[in-house]
Amino acid sequence: MNYSGKQTKTAEYWQVLPDGLCECLLCPHHCHILEGCAGRCKVRAFFGGGLKAMGYGMLSSTHIDPIEKKPLYHFHPGSKIFSVGGWGCNFACSFCQNWTISQDFRKSSTIHVPEQVVSAMKADGCTQIAYTYNEPLVGFEFVRDCSRLVRKVGGTNVLVTNGYCEERPASELWPLIDALNVDIKSMDESFYREHCRGTLAPVLRFCKQAAAAGCHLEITNLVIPGLNDSDDEFQRLASWIRDELGPLTPLHLSAFHPDYRLEAPPTPSEVLLRAHQICRNALAYVYVGNLLVNNGQNTVCPGCGTTLINRAGYETRIVGLKDQRCVRCGRQADIV
Ligand code: SF4
Repeated sequence: MNYSGKQTKTAEYWQVLPDGLCECLLCPHHCHILEGCAGRCKVRAFFGGGLKAMGYGMLSSTHIDPIEKKPLYHFHPGSKIFSVGGWGCNFACSFCQNWTISQDFRKSSTIHVPEQVVSAMKADGCTQIAYTYNEPLVGFEFVRDCSRLVRKVGGTNVLVTNGYCEERPASELWPLIDALNVDIKSMDESFYREHCRGTLAPVLRFCKQAAAAGCHLEITNLVIPGLNDSDDEFQRLASWIRDELGPLTPLHLSAFHPDYRLEAPPTPSEVLLRAHQICRNALAYVYVGNLLVNNGQNTVCPGCGTTLINRAGYETRIVGLKDQRCVRCGRQADIV
């Protein structure tokens, strides 16, 4: 596929400005794009007087994953999910763990239409699909079209996202999305500006919108030594989640491994354990990921401390639940 835009789908949420540039209205960057060029995300480009969704149907990978890998721990635990990734991202995080697809756009001659994606999901015996790996919302039209079809066949849609999306397009998705994992990378605007080339406020707004729309929501925070690992940072993150999203919102604290441009050491387990302890003061469900820490992945009943779900890597065993209730105290589990 060439970059002429001829075969590509016309994007939504844009306008042509009086100076002839195209303003993309999908994410808070509001890129002003010259004819023949793409926005920051690399996959939305201005051709022939219109904005094109260049990455529509161009997949970087498909895989069947345990749902715990998204990570989602409170949504159909132990199930498999058909996962699809595209190209591009509206952030440029120096620590990106998926930079080979997020910071690149490899055009391919194969366009996967939503019907093919949903057929592949069904052929693989899945009823759930995750839009993941790169930032799926830069491919807004593809996510929306696939999600509609998935719903038609009785399936569920999961979004794994940085949450950097404007309110109008996001509100088009809420009725279609069942669950999300949103990455809150830091509670500091300066962190988002310096390390992600984005801003924090729209991400927090997006999370509140998702929760208000009734979507199942879990949050991930990648803990990077020296950058976002202070006690104050963990306290602010957990308090914000408790106050704005609710104390039962699961939080995944994830260990950093050096990748892409950032030269920082891997996250030591003691830092994650400290973060876990601090966040547990505000939240009922805090998990430690990417690092084997004793019981850091288990779901424990907030009522009586009984282990409800035991996890080791991606092995999930439901051990303390009966009829969606804790076997010991009978408390209703906060699990979809
Ligand atoms: S979605 Fe892409 S083109 Fe549109 S404003 Fe965001 S970065 Fe720019």
